[in-house]
Amino acid sequence: MCGIVGYIGNNNSVDYLLNGLKSLEYRGYDSAGLALIENNRINLIKSVGKVQALEDKLSNLSTSSTIGIAHTRWATHGKPTDENSHPHLDCKKEIAIVHNGIIENYLTLKKELIEKGHIFKSETDTEVIVHLLEEELSNITNNYEENLIKSVNIINKKLKGSYALNIIWSKTPDIIIGTRIKAPLLIGAYDDCNFFASDISAFIKYTDQVIYLDDYDVAVLKKDSIKLYDANNNEKYFNKITVDKNVNEATKNGLEHFMLKEIREQPHTVMATIESILENIDNAFGINLMDIKSVKNVLLIGCGTAYHAALVAKYWIEEFAGVPTQAELASEYKYRKIAQTDETLAVFISQSGETADTVAALEKAKLSGFKTVAICNVYSSTISRIADYTFFTKCGPEISVASTKAFTAQLASLFALSILIGKANKSLDDKDVIKLIRELSLIPKSIENIINDEKSIEGIAKKYYTEKSYIFLGRNVNYPIALEAALKLKEITYFQAEGFAAGEIKHGPIAMIEENTPVFSIMGYDSVYDKMLNASQEVIARGANVIAITDKEGNQHMIADIVDRIVIDNTPQYLSPILNIVALQLFAYHVAKLNGREIDQPRNLAKSVTVE
Ligand code: GLU
Repeated sequence: MCGIVGYIGNNNSVDYLLNGLKSLEYRGYDSAGLALIENNRINLIKSVGKVQALEDKLSNLSTSSTIGIAHTRWATHGKPTDENSHPHLDCKKEIAIVHNGIIENYLTLKKELIEKGHIFKSETDTEVIVHLLEEELSNITNNYEENLIKSVNIINKKLKGSYALNIIWSKTPDIIIGTRIKAPLLIGAYDDCNFFASDISAFIKYTDQVIYLDDYDVAVLKKDSIKLYDANNNEKYFNKITVDKNVNEATKNGLEHFMLKEIREQPHTVMATIESILENIDNAFGINLMDIKSVKNVLLIGCGTAYHAALVAKYWIEEFAGVPTQAELASEYKYRKIAQTDETLAVFISQSGETADTVAALEKAKLSGFKTVAICNVYSSTISRIADYTFFTKCGPEISVASTKAFTAQLASLFALSILIGKANKSLDDKDVIKLIRELSLIPKSIENIINDEKSIEGIAKKYYTEKSYIFLGRNVNYPIALEAALKLKEITYFQAEGFAAGEIKHGPIAMIEENTPVFSIMGYDSVYDKMLNASQEVIARGANVIAITDKEGNQHMIADIVDRIVIDNTPQYLSPILNIVALQLFAYHVAKLNGREIDQPRNLAKSVTVE
């Protein structure tokens, strides 16, 4: 997934590159590195670990280079080591590249290149790119810039996979080349310097003028000019877009972790997200009601947390709109044969709008002729540019790798979309719509009440944080919340955590219960309360400690055996997932904190999963 940044201008490039890498670190933090051109030679510095380790290594470097490329890595091929860190060099150490993505045919290419005498230094797929380019450039003795562009276009035809690249060559010391195929890369344009980056956060401090590259574009940056070429080496026209400079401001507000700040922001982020819905649901999605009136199937697609949002929305759409709905993992959807259905609305959920699996699934759905809707949090992201319609959640930047505020905003948006489909196909009348929207409008206040109760959730975390295994049970709309709560806990504590549909435990998972296993029962006083009580009793009988996530009504009816209770406001069952997950996010956060985990950047993960 990794972050790429390139700088060319009049100033020393190192500070720009390091600042860029720090903003992109959420995309991966296995290693970091940079390559500069100085006196017509490449200077390479890289280090395993976070950007800070690279910065420490650079503290003694004296350089005045004004051109460089840099990378923060999320390893796909080869362990996080110094050798496998980017940038990678060719045999003659004249070309340096950084790469985001995966080269799928790298084994074949590597074999061919080794036969031609190239020496590989790393285990990465990336290194084939730089040797391939070296091969193309080996006989070039003039017109270096033009031939470099042509060579990049030639290797773009040989490489298979998804990638964004930045390239520097010591023979063209005044240009950086960038190209992309199914991986993000954009240009930040300023008066006397220009940037490449995986996203705008890397340069937004300096410029709000952005150029988005299309697949197969080859871009040439000089300090005072930008040129784009198509796959046939023809220069092409491009648009500069002015982006909102404030969009990317993110600080911890004095808190220890972004995750805690983001959990606490949820009353505001959900409210900001539903504002346009409360005003006028008919216009909020930009979808013509006639367009969804005839929808016969809904397909909801996402990965990880976004997939859990899809699972919840399946219950809502079938309940409010009576339309058969499937929730599907993006990574599965792409690689199976799909039965063609008419009048399908396909909804793609991704915080970043760059999730590679979801982009691939969206492209496939478009080929099937489905109407497509994106729900994402980042303006101008790839998914939002491909989908027919996009609804933007209004969370501001989500920095913590474990998603919290994006999830509740996705849920609120999907709830509204479900109402809209129900309204369009007349499963809901105007009175139903008004009632549901009013209930949704009360959710931010109830989230605030949970956040005000953080101390008691922290108290429960203090009681259980030494346990190494946790189980979460839910039914109906809260079954996906059991999955999401378990995912949150896994991501940031590294403990085993499993979510189950409560009715399923007797079919297998109950065998896992041991004396004192913590089992969270999500059990508001609703249509499945009694069933949740049954499941709770079954695990208590086998030694589990049950912790109930319930509402005020449910608390009154609770059995004495369940001592630990997190009590939230009464809310209709269908909306309770948005509240229950907030309580469980806080629990996961405090267990991770008590265990001294790196909460905002858990091991092995990256925020924006831009590789398949
Ligand atoms: N596949 C490359 C590697 O493993 C790049 C991964 C990335 O996008 O960070 O080094």
